[in-house]
Amino acid sequence: MSGKIALIERGICEFGTKAYYAQNAGAIAVIICSHTDENIGMDGGVDGSKVRIPAYYITKKECDRIRFYVENGLVVTIKKPENNLAVPDSLDGDFDNGVIAHEYGHGVSNRLTGGPSTASCLGNAEQMGEGWSDFMTLIMSAVPSRKGPDVRGIGNYVVGAKVDGTGIRRKPYSTDMSVNNFTYKNIDAEVHNLGEIWTLALWDLYWALADKYGYDPDFKNKNAGNNICIQLVMDGMKLQPCFPGFIDGRNAILKADEVNNGGVNQCLIWDVFARRGFGYTAKQGSSDMVGDETEDFESAPLCINQLKMNKKADFIVKAGQPINYELTLRNLRRDVANTIRVVDEIPAGCSYVNGSASLSPSTVSATEIVWEIPSMASLEQMVIKYQVSRLHPALQTHCG
Ligand SMILES: [Zn+2]
Repeated sequence: MSGKIALIERGICEFGTKAYYAQNAGAIAVIICSHTDENIGMDGGVDGSKVRIPAYYITKKECDRIRFYVENGLVVTIKKPENNLAVPDSLDGDFDNGVIAHEYGHGVSNRLTGGPSTASCLGNAEQMGEGWSDFMTLIMSAVPSRKGPDVRGIGNYVVGAKVDGTGIRRKPYSTDMSVNNFTYKNIDAEVHNLGEIWTLALWDLYWALADKYGYDPDFKNKNAGNNICIQLVMDGMKLQPCFPGFIDGRNAILKADEVNNGGVNQCLIWDVFARRGFGYTAKQGSSDMVGDETEDFESAPLCINQLKMNKKADFIVKAGQPINYELTLRNLRRDVANTIRVVDEIPAGCSYVNGSASLSPSTVSATEIVWEIPSMASLEQMVIKYQVSRLHPALQTHCG
């Protein structure tokens, strides 16, 4: 059988022994034909380590088809793929350090999440397993010459792309929003598309901490910002609940910072996560569902540390009807705010409807309305509503 593929029945002696005998008889490969349609893995047995040719197991159903064609003169030719973009010319993913780091990352995230007694806490729909794995690729292949805004692809070697190529994800990783502007809403049910967004947030955090505490390629330097980040991400996995979603993951990293660093990086972490849509009021919904999330781009109130005002107006303005305005004032400072002066402009062609304000204004002119508020406690929120009406048509310009 020199130069041929041996088709061998399953049963009686070990798989490895069958393959070894076929190899000694000159076969270039072995196909074991099962007597059932069950798929099993083959053990090498006593002779397995001596086998140098490939050996495959196929089910009875598949084997019956091959047998039929063999009896009808089947000739099999094996050759290298040509012009096949999906399978580049003999590139082996095992030679891509990023691929190995990614797969190793699955082992880490599965084992750390949910505590030491289980390795099955990442089976839910919103879990970020692919995200931790791509993060592992980025940190294991980081070099001092490449910075956060630089383009980082995953699997570039495997697809025959250059180091600065896009790679196999939807967009390359970068802290630069003009290179990758994905946020929480861009997750979808495909696990890698979901993981990309988690990797982005972790990669942003890695560089934000490196910018603050310095970067050192030596993993043993615990004071370098990049290594502080790696420790936070690792400890976050240990602290998060079984079946985590993105907000659980963010909270666990905040918790890890409290445990590891006394919470000195809380606002940095909040700011980083808020930029990708995981802000203070962001919601993950069910961690076993994708598509029920709510983004928020605002950091934690105490990290903002200032007064904020939002203004809402009627979306549809009806002829002859007044226009409603709503001002929401929030004291996001760490302490009380005194003598606050709120000034709002009255649009040209409109005038304030006397008595319409939910809080009496201190002064009203043709162009502005002013409230004086004695004080607001830290985190206090206040809503002021008022109305304007259109002036006589001859005087109207752009009211509303
Ligand atoms: Zn993966």
